[in-house]
Amino acid sequence: MIKPRIVVSQCLGLERCRYDGSIIPEPIVAALQKYVELIPICPEVKIGLGIPRPPLRLVRGEGRPRLLQPATGRDLTKAMEEFAISFLDALPPVDGFLLKNRSPSCGIRDAKIYAGAEKAPAVGAGPGIFAQMVLARFPDLPIEDEGRLTNRALREHFFTRVFASARLRAVLASADLGALVDFHTQHKFLLMAYNQARLRELGRIVANLQRRPAKEVLAQYALGFRAALARPPRRPAVVNALMHALGYFSDRLTPAEKGYFLDLLNAYREGRQPLSTLVGVLRAWMLRFGEPYLDKQLFFSPFPEELVSLSDSAKS
Ligand code: SF4
Repeated sequence: MIKPRIVVSQCLGLERCRYDGSIIPEPIVAALQKYVELIPICPEVKIGLGIPRPPLRLVRGEGRPRLLQPATGRDLTKAMEEFAISFLDALPPVDGFLLKNRSPSCGIRDAKIYAGAEKAPAVGAGPGIFAQMVLARFPDLPIEDEGRLTNRALREHFFTRVFASARLRAVLASADLGALVDFHTQHKFLLMAYNQARLRELGRIVANLQRRPAKEVLAQYALGFRAALARPPRRPAVVNALMHALGYFSDRLTPAEKGYFLDLLNAYREGRQPLSTLVGVLRAWMLRFGEPYLDKQLFFSPFPEELVSLSDSAKS
C-alpha cells in the first residue's frame, strides 16, 4: 500500500506560521499524520514574508482579485502566483490538498474579497491566490479546507478519495493490467455507491475487449475512476450498495436480524444513522458467515478505522 500524499497548509497544527505567529490545532491533521505523507506548505512564508507579519487581503481588481498587504502597500499577487507555479511544478504525485479556509492565500472558496486595501467592505468571497492555482492545476484531485471537513459526510468523502487515489497510483506505477483488474474488483461496491454508470463504464475499460496497450487502458481507467468519486455519494445509491451486500447473507439471517438491518437502513436513508453503523453490522455478518468476495470490498473500509472514530469523537 502506497501512503497517500497530501499537501497541507502548514498552520493547520504543524507550524506557528500564521500572520500573528499562531497555529491552529487541527485534530484531523494530527490523526492523518500516522497514515499519510504530509507535504506542509505555508505559501506566505515561502514568498519571503516573516512570522509575524502584517496581514494580507484580497482586493477587487481588474478582472481578478489582487493579493495586497495594506500595511506596507505591497501587491504580492505576482510573487504568490510565481511561487505557486514553481511549487506545484516540483511536487511529486499527490493524492489531495487540505488547505486553511478563509485565507487570502490558501482558502479554496471563502476568502473575503474587499472593495479596497484599507477600511473597505467585503464585496464577495472566492479562492485565495495559491489555492486558485491548486484548483486549476488539479481539477480531479480532492481539495478541501479544514472548515468543510467538520461535516462528517464531506470528511469521509475526502478520506475515501485520498486513500483510493493512493491505491490507484500504486496500480498506475505497476503498469500491470492484472493489478488493475484486482483494483476494480476491490472497488466494485464503492463504485456502486458512488456512481453506477461509471461502474459499468469502468468495467468495460478493464475488460479491454479491443486489446489496447496497458498504458492507454490504465490512463483511461484512472480518468474515469477519479470522475466517479468526484462528488459525494447519494444516499439512494449507498442504500442500493448496502442492499446488495445484504443479499449475500439474507438466506442465513433470522427475520428479526433482517428487520433490524432494514430499520437501520431506513434511519440512514432519513439521515438519522451514519453509514458506519450499517457497515459495522455488515462487517459482523462477514465475520460470522465468511464472504471472501465482500471481505475484499473497500467499500467497508475505504480508509483507516481510526479516522472514522476520530471524526465521531473530535468533530461531529
Ligand atoms: S493559511 Fe496558508 S499562508 Fe496563511 S499561515 Fe496558513 S499556511 Fe500560511
